[in-house]
Amino acid sequence: MIKIERLCKSFGDLEVLRGIDYEIKEKEVICVIGPSGSGKSTFLRCINLLEEITDGAVYINGVSVNDRQTDINAIRKEVGMVFQQFNLFPHMTVLDNITISPIKMRGMNQHDAKELAHHLLQKVGLGDKSNAYPEQLSGGQMQRVAIARALAMKPKVMLFDEPTSALDPEMVNEVLDVMKQLAVEGMTMVVVTHEMGFAREMGDRVLFMDQGLLVEEGTPEEVFNHPKSERTKAFLSKVL
Ligand code: ADP
Ligand code: MG
Repeated sequence: MIKIERLCKSFGDLEVLRGIDYEIKEKEVICVIGPSGSGKSTFLRCINLLEEITDGAVYINGVSVNDRQTDINAIRKEVGMVFQQFNLFPHMTVLDNITISPIKMRGMNQHDAKELAHHLLQKVGLGDKSNAYPEQLSGGQMQRVAIARALAMKPKVMLFDEPTSALDPEMVNEVLDVMKQLAVEGMTMVVVTHEMGFAREMGDRVLFMDQGLLVEEGTPEEVFNHPKSERTKAFLSKVL
């Protein structure tokens, strides 16, 4: 479903991604771990073209995202993204946050968009919050709205960039539970996370990144219990 070939990304002289090859199959849950600054966010951002690729290629369902012929907005509709800092529109209600993109980008009518939004809010456990504003919500609730908003575009794949890192500890699980439900339903997901428990339980594959390289990948059992690389071992000894 997603094919990444020799992906390189530089910011000026700084090489942040130094040749990453990987393939993600439909319905897989891929968890990306690694130290701060290793290029995890940049990796996600290159997949949905929030960053321009310096070299190499990313294909989504066979379509190259960095080909000039490709409609970037068409790709972005297929790829949902959830950020550490929620990025909700502060001046809009929860309902409007969720309906705006389906209406503006998918041409959905108001009625259908609202119905979809109510359905998604139920799904993330916030059926009673449609008229609230983001500032009236807790971090965990805001992040669940952000997930509902991404799902409203009916994406084929969801990218999560440390979705629980900005949350108070007691709110982490309510967000992870929504993500687990999505995974069980068969959503293809790429999750950058420091939640090793989630990676172990839900990940089909775990990728360990360091210094812009994919150092090691495997099942959670392989990466967590039998890491091959010294760099992986050193990282895990600090976080587990
Ligand atoms: P991670 O998510 O693993 O912490 P990032 O992908 O955010 O890592 O960053 C990797 C490196 O790229 C860091 O050194 C960071 O400072 C640098 N970087 C990220 N975004 C930019 C940018 N827009 N301009 C310049 N440098 C950047
Ligand atoms: Mg990051």
